[in-house]
Amino acid sequence: MEICPKCGLPKEACICETLAKEQEKIVVRKEKRKFGKIVTVVNFNNKINLKEIAKELKKKLACGGTVKDNEIELQGDHAAKIKEKLVELGFNAENIEIVE
Ligand SMILES: [Zn+2]
Repeated sequence: MEICPKCGLPKEACICETLAKEQEKIVVRKEKRKFGKIVTVVNFNNKINLKEIAKELKKKLACGGTVKDNEIELQGDHAAKIKEKLVELGFNAENIEIVE
């Protein structure tokens, strides 16, 4: 049985990641890149495991993307949908800010 090093509970019962997600503050902004391409940058204030989240977001939004430090960069303009997708992944809607 795997034990979570943070809370000491078995992995199945651990809510550390759920809590971390709910407390996460997210800022979404759009940036213009080479050749006028738009990318949507999702900035996270805590260092949670963004690899899994990036994978889910890319699947949900059907786009490419990369993880850089505490940011996920998604190709294309996803500002209209990103909040709803992040909420589906367990993030708190009140903590998500979209910078237009
Ligand atoms: Zn835990």
